[in-house]
Amino acid sequence: MTVRYVPVIGLEIHVQLATESKLFCRCSADYFGKAPNAHICPGCMGLPGAMPILNGRAAELAVRAGIALSCKIRDRLYFDRKHYFYADLSKAYQISQDGRPVAEGGLLKIRSDDGTLKPVRITRLHLEEDAGKLVHSAADGRLEGAENSYADYNRGGMALAEIVSEPDLSSPGEAREYAARIRQLVRYLAVSDGDMEKGSLRVDANVSVKQVDADTGEVLAWSARAEVKNMNSLRALERALEYEIRRHREALASGERLERETRHWNEAEGVT
Ligand code: ADP
Ligand code: MG
Ligand code: ZN
Repeated sequence: MTVRYVPVIGLEIHVQLATESKLFCRCSADYFGKAPNAHICPGCMGLPGAMPILNGRAAELAVRAGIALSCKIRDRLYFDRKHYFYADLSKAYQISQDGRPVAEGGLLKIRSDDGTLKPVRITRLHLEEDAGKLVHSAADGRLEGAENSYADYNRGGMALAEIVSEPDLSSPGEAREYAARIRQLVRYLAVSDGDMEKGSLRVDANVSVKQVDADTGEVLAWSARAEVKNMNSLRALERALEYEIRRHREALASGERLERETRHWNEAEGVT
């Protein structure tokens, strides 16, 4: 029997919205490269009594992107608190949209590997706050000589749209093409600067591999999916997926069982 291996890929893309202020407070969104904790207030720090007030511009940009992705747009906005306890989140919860995203059920056509147009289903697009950053060295030059780690909340509360695709992508090339289309779209619509190096467009890739009987098409085995983070270019996205697909294929071929897990792309070593 001959077997084929078919990659199954879905992307979650976080896009930083081109607003002047954060999602629920008046702090300036122009925080990049600024002194740590120079762009914070009681609102985005989550101090008791601070009241979140939605940035209407962020909602407008999210709706604009949702329409361009042929999504169904909700006529009211709902928000949820996603609680987690980690030092990059001073509030200990993120305001997001869980069950009722602003936009759902869209479509984006991409050029697939064989040159034909391929529809990729968009599961949803929702608004959410970004987290702060933990800085573990003085490598960025902002705190010269500092040896300790610190938390910088300037990015905390920044307006993001998260765009989630269905697992319709079948190769690293298609995933790259899809991400490039999303980037082109948000730039064209002035929804985001889409700059991956600055982190204004961040891609998490979910990947699994099906082992298929080449003659009958029957699925013989399907590896548990891995979610890969920390790719900061389209090339890195492609390389990380190539690496993961190889790892999944080898596991399937040898009968090893993989865990469902989240993995970090290491650019320097080319591994996850
Ligand atoms: P979670 O909430 O755990 O992130 P979701 O159901 O929201 O899970 O899925 C997140 C992403 O994973 C989506 O982009 C989806 O297309 C993708 N995905 C779901 N199942 C698979 C799979 N078996 N293989 C690869 N990607 C998948
Ligand atoms: Mg997810
Ligand atoms: Zn603020």
